[in-house]
Amino acid sequence: MMDRKPPHLHTGLCPTCDKTFHYAHADEALNRPFCSRRCREIDLGKWLNEEYRVGDPAHPTNDHLADTDAD
Ligand SMILES: [Zn+2]
Repeated sequence: MMDRKPPHLHTGLCPTCDKTFHYAHADEALNRPFCSRRCREIDLGKWLNEEYRVGDPAHPTNDHLADTDAD
């Protein structure tokens, strides 16, 4: 009986889409901790946006002052 053991799978939780994903080798999960390149880029974009808005004194944010009443 040659039972093939399933490969040990690592589990990841994508911070962008909250999806659980599995991978067997780090090589297969180049986008960790994200499930896909798309999700990684979404997160990266979010990050860069924040950085840009916070760290850019050349562009004072006086255009959307009413945005702060979100719950
Ligand atoms: Zn994802």
